[in-house]
Amino acid sequence: MTKSAVIIGGGLGGLFTGAILAKEGIKVSVIEKNATIGGGLQSFTRFGEVFDTGMHVIGGMRPGGNIRRICDYIGITEKIHIKDVDDDVIDTLYFAEDKKTYHISQGKETFVDRLAEEFPDQRENLARYVEAIYDIVEELDLFFLRPSNDYIAVHSDDFMMAANKFIGKYITDSKLTAVLAYMNPLYAGRENMTPAYIHALISVLYINGPSRFAGGSYRFAETLRDSIVERGGEVVTNDGVEHIATQDRLITSVTTRKGRLFSADYYISAIHPCSLLALFDDPSVFPKAYANRLREIPNSYSAFTLNIKLKPNTFRYMNHSGYYMSRYDEIWNFGREEWKWPLGFLYMTPPDIEQGEFSTKMIITAPMTWDKVKRWENTRVGQRGKEYEEWKRERTEELLSRIEEIYPDFRSYIEDINAASPLTIRDYYNVKEGAMCGYSKDCNNILLSQVPVVTKIKNLLFTGQNCNVHGFCGVPLTAINTSEVILGRNYVLNKINKLDDDKQ
Ligand SMILES: Cc1cc2nc3c(=O)[nH]c(=O)nc-3n(C[C@H](O)[C@H](O)[C@H](O)COP(=O)(O)OP(=O)(O)OC[C@H]3O[C@@H](n4cnc5c(N)ncnc54)[C@H](O)[C@@H]3O)c2cc1C
Repeated sequence: MTKSAVIIGGGLGGLFTGAILAKEGIKVSVIEKNATIGGGLQSFTRFGEVFDTGMHVIGGMRPGGNIRRICDYIGITEKIHIKDVDDDVIDTLYFAEDKKTYHISQGKETFVDRLAEEFPDQRENLARYVEAIYDIVEELDLFFLRPSNDYIAVHSDDFMMAANKFIGKYITDSKLTAVLAYMNPLYAGRENMTPAYIHALISVLYINGPSRFAGGSYRFAETLRDSIVERGGEVVTNDGVEHIATQDRLITSVTTRKGRLFSADYYISAIHPCSLLALFDDPSVFPKAYANRLREIPNSYSAFTLNIKLKPNTFRYMNHSGYYMSRYDEIWNFGREEWKWPLGFLYMTPPDIEQGEFSTKMIITAPMTWDKVKRWENTRVGQRGKEYEEWKRERTEELLSRIEEIYPDFRSYIEDINAASPLTIRDYYNVKEGAMCGYSKDCNNILLSQVPVVTKIKNLLFTGQNCNVHGFCGVPLTAINTSEVILGRNYVLNKINKLDDDKQ
């Protein structure tokens, strides 16, 4: 008999898990609360331009990359619009403190060579550091889509070390330690807390070669949706799950805002676990300690974003991302509430499908902690009041002043501008405190922040960024873990590897 699964949340995790299960003959219903699917893949149109909300830089999509191999297996690679960033400069990094710009290059050797030009006495240390991050990643079978029968993973000391200490173990120049940590806003890094394996994973993915969605990340969400629908599944939008009914510690059905009732063999939560807990008609269905643990895991910090429409033919298209940092010694301070905002930000010009010489838009994303917007936490989109609008305008001006340190007169290139705060992220994704990457990972208490995909309710599974690694490079891997609980251990991984073998 065909098995069925109801997936709560049509973001990156819900859609990937749905696409895998639908491919394997499971009858899938994905339920999304927003009018638009995608979660972090969602785009919106403003001033006639398409802006992506939570997917600006992606890894694993170059030929042979792990996420690309998953897309090959689902059968969607040919339909995806991707633009690889330039290999000689994948990122630039500007430090306001000494007005210095560093260039980061793709590929292990070039990465080392380019930075060694700036830090010649660190060349050997740099080479050792790069080997060490690749060694850490080698410990993760799933990263390489290798089937594994190990139930308890044993890891090296480097793997579990705090990322900042790990960098300091290999690099003795304090400026270079900051340069190597420049991507920590991408994984909401915190000093003495974020494990080195998270830093290593993201760094390796980008050293191997980052890419971007061309023409909007929403196209990718739609491709995943189409693959679910073509295989007999459904993707419901604009109708979030509001109630979950249980009996004898099993879920019996979910009911949506519009009153539709869905029941299935399996229920998969692709939303923040704290948002899920609030949906149960009987809150005592989870053991108290388990529910408390889910509530108490700290969340990653959030972000303040500027979506800028540029005047035609004023700003050249940059086929790499840029990072602004105030000071070297502040690189790990993003998550600290008391720190003066903004410490730094990422800026990038998203490509159109037919990208010309000039950019049509820019997105600036600056990490921000929840406390900055807490006073408006009881307000909703469009009704937050004048004080909030004024606060947003001031933050916008602060960011524009910073970017003008790199591009004087930048304000004169702007046609229109829109700002989104952590409140926007909270309300659109239904994620606690607008957390950019879901739960924070803490190397001092790794068990606390590891949420297994199996839960205390037998027919409920988790997927999405809160289980393991967030983002485009992490969530699809967890989708495999979740699917394999239903399909059987290594079932999907074996199929992916067989497909690769058949191609050779
Ligand atoms: C500003 C920002 C920038 C980012 N940039 C990048 C980047 O450049 N690269 C990268 O790899 N990652 C990036 N990320 C992280 C990435 O977006 C997330 O890790 C990823 O989207 C998480 O996927 P998910 O499926 O777990 O959650 P989401 O994508 O958030 O999906 C959850 C979905 O569930 C829906 N939902 C919630 N409650 C309900 C309910 N009750 N019923 C039905 N549906 C519900 C939500 O509307 C949402 O669509 C960024 C995140 C942010 C916030």
